Amino acid sequence: MFPMLNSFLFLTLVLLSTVFSVKNFRSGYSRAGRIALLAAAISVVVFSLLYKWEAFHFFLPAICLLLFLISFIPLPKVSEDLKKEETEFDERDIVFSRYRLKPGTENYLSYYGKKPEKEVPDAATRALPGLLSKQSRFYHRFNAAAADASFFLLHHLRDSVDGEVREKTGGHTPEQIGNYLRSLLEHYGVSCYGTALMKPDNYYSHTGRGQGTYGDEISTDHKFAIVLGSEMKPRFTATAPLSPEVVETGSRYVDSAVWAVQTASFIRDLGYSARAHIDGNYQVITPLVAHDAGLGGFGWSSLFLTEEFGPRVRFSVVTTDLDVSALPVKQQTSFLSFCNICRKCAINCPSRAINPDKLEKVNTDRCFKYWNSVGTDCGKCMAVCPMGHPWGVLKSFALRSYIAGWLLKKLDDIFYGRKPGSLRIPQWMGNK
Ligand code: SF4
Ligand code: SF4
Repeated sequence: MFPMLNSFLFLTLVLLSTVFSVKNFRSGYSRAGRIALLAAAISVVVFSLLYKWEAFHFFLPAICLLLFLISFIPLPKVSEDLKKEETEFDERDIVFSRYRLKPGTENYLSYYGKKPEKEVPDAATRALPGLLSKQSRFYHRFNAAAADASFFLLHHLRDSVDGEVREKTGGHTPEQIGNYLRSLLEHYGVSCYGTALMKPDNYYSHTGRGQGTYGDEISTDHKFAIVLGSEMKPRFTATAPLSPEVVETGSRYVDSAVWAVQTASFIRDLGYSARAHIDGNYQVITPLVAHDAGLGGFGWSSLFLTEEFGPRVRFSVVTTDLDVSALPVKQQTSFLSFCNICRKCAINCPSRAINPDKLEKVNTDRCFKYWNSVGTDCGKCMAVCPMGHPWGVLKSFALRSYIAGWLLKKLDDIFYGRKPGSLRIPQWMGNK
């Protein structure tokens, strides 16, 4: 019985290594692909050499049994209180809104009159070359134009986030609409989606950069939300902080914005109020809504992570008065216990915006300053995150079991590197 069990386990190991290798090559992680292939080859050699040795047949089953038994030891819990530190978020305080303030204008004077400590550091950030700027360190003529094209489109989509609500006809129930909507979202090709009940503190308190007048109070009328995510492709995110990363960011923001604008329009057509919240024009704090929709949780990097894609997702939201509670609300996931033993984002952050020693919010001022000097949105914390790598079901175990978490961290360091460099710019992009 043991030789058979041993053969089965070895074959499974070889098969999984090969599948993992193919997955990695296809995603652009050639280093991980090569290591997985090598692991598969070594397994075959070891198996052939040791097959005749009787004691060997107990070896692998014994290791598997041991791993199974100790896998019940849970990861020590880490408090999830980070996101609750503030109960009200004013969009005027975020780095993007502050960056747009023009010295001498009424908004500038009123903002820095209240927050004088931010004036000097913000002026220093404004003096840097800026995102996609020709003077920035990682400037790439074609990629800057490609990213700009996405932000151009997003800018114009801002006028389509809301519109006229049609009369309700046909007597359809919210449940029937919700069922249709679920298939419609899949038809659009949405990578992940979820629904949430809106809480007042999921909205910004005042407008800072989106549609409407600067400083206007934001209405919190809509009670429901649909969150739509678009997966960022690893071949591009792994080039972070080089320019392909920002091309991918822009493109995926466009996907999720288009889906959100379409979804909001679809809902309004059926007689319910709905507004899309898209990049540059959010009235909601998207990660908080995504969290309430059960799409994932916050990582050490302060980024929002999903179990499937880690931080490699760009979100839009639709808020509405259509009761979408019939759509599935997923179970929330906690990542921080695994993060506590990982901290890879912090040790790889080029601007030291993430504290490696203590769990606290990312220093967005430092991070944004770095973006404005290199000209891209960096994304190194996203690129190195093990939760964004194609570990499949092992990620689920790693979030719950101490041994699986420890194993994943070690394996991730071996396959992808503890401090990996940036992947080469894809050949078709050239070196412009
Ligand atoms: S890199 Fe590690 S510590 Fe950072 S968010 Fe990802 S899992 Fe958490
Ligand atoms: S926190 Fe900012 S600067 Fe640091 S790795 Fe992430 S994106 Fe880059």
